[in-house]
Amino acid sequence: MSQTEKHEFKAEIQQLLDIVINSLYTDKEIFVRELVSNASDALEKLRFKQSAGENILDSDQELKVTVSVDEKEKTVTFSDTGIGMTKDELVTNLGTIAHSGSKNFLSQLAQGGKPDASLIGQFGVGFYSAFMVAGKVDVQTRSYREGESGWNWTSDGSGSFEITENTEASRGTSITIHLKEEQEEFAQEFKLESILKKHSSFVPFPVYFKDKKINEVQALWTRSKNEITDEEYEQFFQHVGHNFGKPKYRLHFSADAPLMINTILFVPEANMEKMGLSRIDSQVSLYCKRVLIEPNSKKLLPDYLRFLSGVVDSEDIPLNISRESMQDSALLAKINKVITTRFLKFLNDEAKKDADKYNEFFAEFGRFIREGLVADHTHKEALAKLLRYESSSLDNGVTTSLEDYITRMKSDQNEIYFLNGPDRETIEKSPYYEAFKQKDLEVLFFTDPTDEFVMDHLTEFKDKKVVSAEKAEVSVDSEANGGLDKKQTEDFVKWLKDSLGDLVGEVRGSSRLVGSPCLLINKDSMTAGMRQFMKTMKSEQGDFGGKHDMEINPSHSIITGLNTLRSNDDGLAKKIATQIFENAKAAAGLVEDPRTMVESLNNLVEVVIEAKK
Ligand code: ADP
Ligand code: MG
Repeated sequence: MSQTEKHEFKAEIQQLLDIVINSLYTDKEIFVRELVSNASDALEKLRFKQSAGENILDSDQELKVTVSVDEKEKTVTFSDTGIGMTKDELVTNLGTIAHSGSKNFLSQLAQGGKPDASLIGQFGVGFYSAFMVAGKVDVQTRSYREGESGWNWTSDGSGSFEITENTEASRGTSITIHLKEEQEEFAQEFKLESILKKHSSFVPFPVYFKDKKINEVQALWTRSKNEITDEEYEQFFQHVGHNFGKPKYRLHFSADAPLMINTILFVPEANMEKMGLSRIDSQVSLYCKRVLIEPNSKKLLPDYLRFLSGVVDSEDIPLNISRESMQDSALLAKINKVITTRFLKFLNDEAKKDADKYNEFFAEFGRFIREGLVADHTHKEALAKLLRYESSSLDNGVTTSLEDYITRMKSDQNEIYFLNGPDRETIEKSPYYEAFKQKDLEVLFFTDPTDEFVMDHLTEFKDKKVVSAEKAEVSVDSEANGGLDKKQTEDFVKWLKDSLGDLVGEVRGSSRLVGSPCLLINKDSMTAGMRQFMKTMKSEQGDFGGKHDMEINPSHSIITGLNTLRSNDDGLAKKIATQIFENAKAAAGLVEDPRTMVESLNNLVEVVIEAKK
């Protein structure tokens, strides 16, 4: 008898197991998908070793997955002739967290989230999903490396696992699930067969059940587009993306030049990062002539396209290239550029075809487009075309692209204008918007805190500068409105500066205001939105940027009135001046504590009551 070694699970694994065992009620059948996909991965790895010319134990064995059930013993077994595991690999691979789905799942919990039963299936909790239905799991495995022994691994999912040598084991891995009493239905032949059929259509190796091959082995991406049904694409999406449901978009394309590439890419319905999860990882794998070169390849696509799943098959990749040298291959960079260009163009086309669908996409994945604009200069223009904003020229809820904005620009307009704010209503009330409204100049409404930051990187689109309406030089003709003349304005501005003292920087007359008496300009010329954004970045920072300059509207009745008042009752005029300043601060989104406003307001209320008594 060989010796049995007992190992404890790492704490994080135990945490995962407890959740898998105790709180996952739905979609229990995903354990079939996960175990078949692990078997398939193991076979792909073996095929890769083979094509790289490595020595393989029992190299004449067919590469296949075999699934069987024992209705009496209540077990389900998944066997593969794949790469297998050495003892060390067994301990590491099944005793620590490998799968990104599992990692995401745990980090959501770490952030205090509750596992959402309806989403569980999407996490793909990998090997451990077996414990949703198993009271005990036995693994028998032998590495493809010659000279390695075979091993048994067993665990009931509570705290520890045991490892025993098994010299009889043949190459590959065999996993036996001892079903819990409540889950015995999975040992029924018809039940398992139907689940298996659902999840194994795109396994690139034959899957046998009861001596029958139940899948058609195929590389979907090598088939011609018009022969593939929507349903097949859908199943393929579920297979590569460890996902349920339908993809939002799919792109299937082949290119001969500059590279031979065959690609299928999927955009899922939902953005898993948006749900407060940690970073997702791309699920796009790299193949060469149907041989998997690198699963979930990191360099294949830019980081900001990490929400995609699918395959890229390129015949130009040398088969015997090592995964390490693949990492910095110039070839990979070339493939990356071709696919990214094609995919961004695809999105642009789709947006034109069905704007509503694209808007849904943008609401979900827009943050990745913005991220790309900041990070990726190569595809700047293509990414900029994908941006969408509400605008002053369009109804509530309707969005525009920058391209469409340009088509509506006035003949003498050279810049694209935007204004930042928490929502459309607030922006429409902004004093900065007044002149634009009066002159009928279109302004884009930026409501995402990062929008303006992104524009700092874009700076222009199709030779048009993108500028904040807070900084733009737009003026309205105010002389005709019976306001203060030049000399009066000069005097008033001087008086106002004296009255406000240290509260403000410079004070000057302005021609860009219509309905507001004044507005504030930040000295460091940061717009309100940017200030807000910077504040969220450095949350400990209190007041930002020091004193603000003030612009007054010489034709506004409050200003003309105040100008008259100051010669009759300078004290009251000063109180009002302070209040106007506070109001402007509020309008600019600069009031940190609204209580500071109350005092000056009450001062005024007192005066009004006195006067009317
Ligand atoms: P993932 O498949 O995402 O890596 P899993 O939790 O499904 O995560 O599996 C963990 C690891 O266990 C795998 O990465 C692999 O190294 C190993 N493994 C699981 N099943 C098999 C198998 N049938 N053959 C060989 N190795 C396996
Ligand atoms: Mg897996």
